[in-house]
Amino acid sequence: MANLKKRVVENVPGDFYVDSTCIDCDACRQIAPAVFGEAAETSFVKAQPQASADRRQALRALLSCPTGSIGCLGDDDVKGVMSDLPLAIEEPVYYCGYNSPKSYGGNSYLIRHAAGNWMIDSPKFVQPLVQQLEALGGIAHIFLTHRDDVADAERYAHHFGSRRIIHRDELSSQPGAEVVLDGAGPWELAPDFLAILTPGHTKGHCVLQYRDRFLFTGDHLDWDRDEQHLAASEDYCWYSWPEQIVSMERLADYRFEWVLPGHGQKVHLPASEMRSEILCLVESMREHKTL
Ligand code: SF4
Repeated sequence: MANLKKRVVENVPGDFYVDSTCIDCDACRQIAPAVFGEAAETSFVKAQPQASADRRQALRALLSCPTGSIGCLGDDDVKGVMSDLPLAIEEPVYYCGYNSPKSYGGNSYLIRHAAGNWMIDSPKFVQPLVQQLEALGGIAHIFLTHRDDVADAERYAHHFGSRRIIHRDELSSQPGAEVVLDGAGPWELAPDFLAILTPGHTKGHCVLQYRDRFLFTGDHLDWDRDEQHLAASEDYCWYSWPEQIVSMERLADYRFEWVLPGHGQKVHLPASEMRSEILCLVESMREHKTL
């Protein structure tokens, strides 16, 4: 619950505000970019939403804020907005919302599938989302890209009887995982679902390709909104930057049109453009290579 007394000074006056507990995870700026802006190490309300659709977007951000740092003084129907999450990106792929502080506000995703739904990384375990997921048929598989973004995966797995999938080198974060990926892959987990090893950010980091169209990239790859290019972060590379460069180059061999990251902005581009973006990124990573 946000605290009005802790409002950050950058907020413009009005019903919505961000308080000083914000961890600058970027989720609200992705969900409601017209409302939330970025200051030094915090988000703030840069424009108060007026139209009901804009207020609804701001309320989705409020619900998804990992630290409860967004407040609303209006009499908006927050409970009514809970039914918006998970939020469709492009059928059958959804953004779960309810980002967890355990993953520093990482995004998680849902794929609705006739043979059982998939969750990619984990949101907070909260009843409104659990009920929505129950109504959508539950969760059969939880794909965990890496150790940092497992959040409440164990609770979801126990609740839904899901099988958790993670690489052995990340297993210490989820020792009870039902499926452990060994070696260098790639692994066809089911028709249309391919796990690809992308060491760099962490040693056993994997991405998930779905239907040659969607790539769930964890903390390997995202879209830089300012530069309008694909990006990877050397500052947040915990294992090996040289290995992350090799992993990135490998992705040029795969077809996809969506990059759906754990942290950072998602993007949709034609597959040919996506490949060019990957190759450009590899070149720029090589220029900044540290050995
Ligand atoms: S979602 Fe919450 S923690 Fe994340 S940047 Fe916005 S206000 Fe801050």
